[in-house]
Amino acid sequence: MGLITNIFQTDLIKGLSLTIKNFFVKPVTQRYPEERWVMPERFRGAQILKRHEDGKERCVGCGLCGEICPSDAISIETSEGLDHEKQIDFYEIDLGLCIYCGFCQEVCPVNAIFLGSEYELSVTDPGRLKVSKEQMLEKGDDPRYDKL
Ligand code: SF4
Ligand code: SF4
Repeated sequence: MGLITNIFQTDLIKGLSLTIKNFFVKPVTQRYPEERWVMPERFRGAQILKRHEDGKERCVGCGLCGEICPSDAISIETSEGLDHEKQIDFYEIDLGLCIYCGFCQEVCPVNAIFLGSEYELSVTDPGRLKVSKEQMLEKGDDPRYDKL
């Protein structure tokens, strides 16, 4: 019985000292949503599309991102433009299907698509998880989502 009491008291003292030690440590919790995380560079969030310095879209509509996507999250439709250049008629990513593997970013030959830092993706309507090219370009212009 004496041994059990001894062990209990040792553990109690250990526990209390840990509590006292941590009492003065700055808490790591944040007051969300007033305070937001700064995502690390390697975080894979919602996709963004980047532009060239002159503002022109980088994406050339090659379709490689859609081909490599393991969850068929990217839909692209293209046609031939007036000057025989490929024009993008439809480009959409379904963030509800995306598994954030990053293959689309890796395969893009012109560095147009990147996984950005947006992490707040909860919606009540699943249709809102479908993101158009224009929305992705807007996010690419916004420093909050472009971590590069
Ligand atoms: S991150 Fe992966 S799953 Fe998501 S769109 Fe890109 S290739 Fe598809
Ligand atoms: S984002 Fe890149 S890989 Fe996808 S269609 Fe545009 S240029 Fe091709």
